[in-house]
Amino acid sequence: MTVYNFCAGPAMLPADVMRSAQQEFLNYQQLGVSVMEISHRSAEYMAVAEEAEQNLRDLMVIPDEYAVLFMHGGARGQFSAIPLNLLGQGEALYLLNGQWSVAAANEADKFGAVVRRDLRTEQGPLDLSLIGDTAGFSYVHYCPNETVDGVAMHDIPQVDSPLVADMSSCILGRELDVSKFALIYAGAQKNVGPAGLAIVIVRKDLLGQADPKTPAILDYALAQKTDSMYNTPPTFAWYLSGEVFKWIKQQGGVAAMQQRNRTKADALYQFIDASDFYRNEIAADFRSEMNVTFQLHDDELNKRFVREAEAAGLKALEGHRMVGGMRASIYNAMPLEGIHALIDFMERFEKAHR
Ligand SMILES: *Cc1c(COP(=O)(O)O)cnc(C)c1O
Repeated sequence: MTVYNFCAGPAMLPADVMRSAQQEFLNYQQLGVSVMEISHRSAEYMAVAEEAEQNLRDLMVIPDEYAVLFMHGGARGQFSAIPLNLLGQGEALYLLNGQWSVAAANEADKFGAVVRRDLRTEQGPLDLSLIGDTAGFSYVHYCPNETVDGVAMHDIPQVDSPLVADMSSCILGRELDVSKFALIYAGAQKNVGPAGLAIVIVRKDLLGQADPKTPAILDYALAQKTDSMYNTPPTFAWYLSGEVFKWIKQQGGVAAMQQRNRTKADALYQFIDASDFYRNEIAADFRSEMNVTFQLHDDELNKRFVREAEAAGLKALEGHRMVGGMRASIYNAMPLEGIHALIDFMERFEKAHR
């Protein structure tokens, strides 16, 4: 049975990447040892690290004025690192558009002055006019793709302070003008690679003003100075992420990912909208292409759906515990066939249970 994994994270990785990593798992480039077992300062590993960074720079067209850092601690590590490095004596503005931006604001509270503006309303998923005046903040933080809620802000908000974005679940999913941002960060385990790694893309002129109490492993200037090797980096996660970057290049780059992601999400939303059995009430403009949520009319049926889907090889469709229902996470690695298999199953389930 073909299994499709819809887990929100750690999420499925491209099968081609997994196979080639398996091929060289025990014997990396004829060294007789695994890439996991070599020094991060060896010539072989330095080449892995540099190539990964260069490929990411190519894929995202990252200008030279930006540092690319490979850090520990996932996205939540960055929830702490961002205020420590960027807040200074000022205030930070956090736009709240779902569960993760709320969590980021709560962590930032520990380190200084945080202003929150909740964009979520009763009428629709988000009201962007609530962003309000954005001048004079150390930075403005938002989350373009709220993984739990299945809500996305597709347009980059126009703000008058440095813009910081948590792209954990959407980085490399569509084309992006990096120069609009002061800082972009992402935990790797959704759209990039294995857990344990965070990618930080930060404008270099913002570095060097960290709070003196910043833990060394969260200090961006130090990470930049040491090529993200102040201490031992998560070497395997970095290597495998580099393999994913190569794969994206082979597929035609981020533009090709974007097109495929659009096709996948459209197919699923069209099916849901055409049905009176499944529902997704998020307004079309704010629907995530990466995390598609849907519900049935009662919770027992939701549970049954998840159970029967699992048995049919469609894994991890249960919605986040805060939201319930179902969630199909369909990042870059999910092939179109996975979407078709899900829709086929949804049709069969509807016939049997309506
Ligand atoms: C998963 C996720 C996080 C948390 O990531 P960790 O690496 O587990 O800390 C933060 N933000 C978003 C948008 C996420 O999807």
